[in-house]
Amino acid sequence: MKLVLASNNPGKLREIREIMEGTGVEVLSQREAGCDFEAEETGETFMENARIKARAAMRATGLPAVADDSGLEVRAMDGAPGVHSARFAGDRSYDEVCRDIQARVEGHPDRRARYCCALVCCFPDGRELSCFATTEGEISRELRGTGGFGYDPMFLLPDGRTMAELSEEEKNAISHRGRAFRELVKRLKDGECDADK
Ligand code: IMP
Repeated sequence: MKLVLASNNPGKLREIREIMEGTGVEVLSQREAGCDFEAEETGETFMENARIKARAAMRATGLPAVADDSGLEVRAMDGAPGVHSARFAGDRSYDEVCRDIQARVEGHPDRRARYCCALVCCFPDGRELSCFATTEGEISRELRGTGGFGYDPMFLLPDGRTMAELSEEEKNAISHRGRAFRELVKRLKDGECDADK
């Protein structure tokens, strides 16, 4: 079965190919599937945005397509930046953005935060599968680590390391995206949706 990933992000493509290995699912980037556009993320939730992107890629290619939408929710900021995580960063470096969030959280008794990932898989016959997963953590007081990307250097895990201090395999094992993709693979294998039909 061929599955289009509604993204051209090489990191995401590598991650999902790794997770899909041995499942018989061949993952293609949008470009490889012959469509090169980015659907506008006009939804108000991670799930709405994932659905918009997956449906657009499925309609453009005629193949089953999967899209994810993810971001960081900070309790002391009422769940922001949330679906606006990329826009919140804007043109600033993530070093600057992380320090901005640390400053907003400073003095607040609740430093909890979570990464969220919504995944939607759309099939040409109209069926859809959706998964949602999170990774729980806290906003750290300093920035540590060089791995991962985005908000990872300030995302403190229960074991005391930041997400940026994990190896790629360690991050995949616990990350919101890794968990959501593994749930999707399990449900595809369980036959909840069979794209060949
Ligand atoms: P996207 O929806 O996966 O493109 O992610 C939107 C934004 O959320 C990214 O630009 C990052 O700012 C943030 N984000 C999502 N996942 C992660 C992660 O695993 N680490 C750090 N930042 C993330």
